[in-house]
Amino acid sequence: MKFNDTVNKDYIKEMFIKYAKIQSNSTENNPGKTPSTPEQIELGKIIVHDLKALGVKEVEQDKNGYVIARIKGNTQAPTVAFISHLDTYHSTNGKGVEPIVHENYNGKDIVLPKEGTVIKVSDFPELKEKVGKTLISSSGDTLLGGDDKCGIAISMEVIKFLLNNTELKHGDVCFVFTPDEEIGHGAELLDLRKLNAVCAYTLDSEGFGTITNETFCANYMTVDIKGKDIHPGYAKNKMVNALRIASRFIEKLPTDKRPETTEERQGFLHPVKIEGGVSNVKINLLVRDFAVEGLKELQDIAQNIANNTQKEFQGSEITISIKEQYRNMRYELDKDPRVVEYAVKAMRACGVEPKMSVARGGTDGSRLSYRGLLTPDIPAGFYAFHSKMEWVCLEEMAENAKVIRHLISTWAS
Ligand SMILES: [Zn+2]
Repeated sequence: MKFNDTVNKDYIKEMFIKYAKIQSNSTENNPGKTPSTPEQIELGKIIVHDLKALGVKEVEQDKNGYVIARIKGNTQAPTVAFISHLDTYHSTNGKGVEPIVHENYNGKDIVLPKEGTVIKVSDFPELKEKVGKTLISSSGDTLLGGDDKCGIAISMEVIKFLLNNTELKHGDVCFVFTPDEEIGHGAELLDLRKLNAVCAYTLDSEGFGTITNETFCANYMTVDIKGKDIHPGYAKNKMVNALRIASRFIEKLPTDKRPETTEERQGFLHPVKIEGGVSNVKINLLVRDFAVEGLKELQDIAQNIANNTQKEFQGSEITISIKEQYRNMRYELDKDPRVVEYAVKAMRACGVEPKMSVARGGTDGSRLSYRGLLTPDIPAGFYAFHSKMEWVCLEEMAENAKVIRHLISTWAS
């Protein structure tokens, strides 16, 4: 290390509290519109203003609300990008957030002043390791929005550092603030040509010390069931009721392959929608696994159940069709091992042995990776996100800012 990696914790705290107070929920009720809410544009404008005040020369907010800031390099090295999202989760109140700072945390349940909300150590055992640290929560009637305002505050601190310290050698570094991550549309409209980066890292997960380099592989299954309708008064030996067939099909799906019974690297078959009547029913299922082969196995299980059920109901017809949704980003990340390796190296430089982690869903990073910008995730520092019990640890946010310094430096070494 040839630079001073001390982090300005007070600045992170100040910026975090400032942005947490600004409502920026996205919404699923505005399909086709990016960003989905005008508040995200407003937050983006404030960030652009703050970046200019820091001395950032290249920064713009495009018509879809994406904010891209470029810090010019001071040596020859590839451009890397860091991405956080402007929006907060839609289904927990995000209006009127009043952040509360809990200095020197005492290890006990945290009782918030509103709605009787309590952050319990029994629910979040990680709290036991945070004694003596500075935690921040909401006042109990809103989410906090640490997801992902931690990422934004950390980015601001790193930008300030890069502008004021020339001893850290780096190529161009882009900081990107995207809308609508929470509704799955944060990656689509990002102009990758503007970034021209070798890779990116999202700052969008819990705590400290993990690297998320895998996501689910996802297919969408449609089961089409044809029965035979006829007047029920004269239906004996003639009617074939598609609703009964559908119910039998769902009942036969394996209990150990459900979202409710699986975790970590286990996949599942998850019925999400059913519609129809006596003559025809359609069932939609999510098929999820970390490997394409695993998807195939799950689909074979469903096909066998369909075959057997069809035999049971003489005269019925069951067909299954599959639509590809997204793939594990690991398949892409493996094409340039440096992207994850350098993140490992940066964490080790901060005295932490990183844990590799999997996302049981799709992420903006996986979509970007398939668009050609390899994007694993490193933590931002929040916990209990999407809830009124959400909390963040200031010291961990500072550690994450330190990791980013080392990561930027590693790409230039
Ligand atoms: Zn997030």
